[in-house]
Amino acid sequence: MTQEPGRREELAANLADVEGRIAAACAASGRPREGVQLVVVTKFFPRSDLDLLAGLGVTEIGENREQEASAKLAEGGTPPGVRTHFIGQLQSKKATAVARWADVVQSVDRDKLVGALARGAETAGREVTALIQVNLDPDAGAGRGGADPSDVPALADRIAGSSLRLGGLMAVAPLDADPDAAFERLARLHQPLLADHPRARMLSAGMSGDLEAAVRHGATHLRVGTAILGTRLSHR
Ligand SMILES: *Cc1c(COP(=O)(O)O)cnc(C)c1O
Repeated sequence: MTQEPGRREELAANLADVEGRIAAACAASGRPREGVQLVVVTKFFPRSDLDLLAGLGVTEIGENREQEASAKLAEGGTPPGVRTHFIGQLQSKKATAVARWADVVQSVDRDKLVGALARGAETAGREVTALIQVNLDPDAGAGRGGADPSDVPALADRIAGSSLRLGGLMAVAPLDADPDAAFERLARLHQPLLADHPRARMLSAGMSGDLEAAVRHGATHLRVGTAILGTRLSHR
């Protein structure tokens, strides 16, 4: 795949911008910068961008479609030192394939996925961490996925009793809602989970537009795409 001239510089500049935003948000909340991990969402963008990002020191990347991710990672494998996150809605028939490459599956939202992912991870001989995706939008129906908050404790016990590692919670702030209110609610759901599962410390929240709010409410992982990769069209 050919690389556009200047792409490395563009990614480096965008990464520096986002890094500045994360550092400022951490400082404003009195949180250590090391407590927040940036996951760069590379969906829609080519394999060459993954290699450039790895070369720029990115250690976590996120993908939301199994086929796209598998194809990208098949070209030369996962870049050395990079951990991969699956962040998209997952059909159980694709779970085995995801368990072959994902280190973290952030979008576990129902029982059926737990068994499928656990079997896939066992077959592949891999350790896979699962986050429970919580639906913070009561009006969204099945729209963007996510478990009902009341289903979190049972789903957590199910994951903890499987061969998957229970990492914590993930959520997307509802469209047109105040992200502070959404992430505050997510943080409140995280407390009882931590009481039952002290190692489930991961809290994945915040994207390009609302990462500051996520940091304010204790996010440990931010999933940032557009602010680093650009929009799909401007890149073509
Ligand atoms: C695409 C995506 C992101 C990144 O969103 P940006 O607004 O591009 O930063 C984060 N989380 C999920 C679940 C996504 O699908």
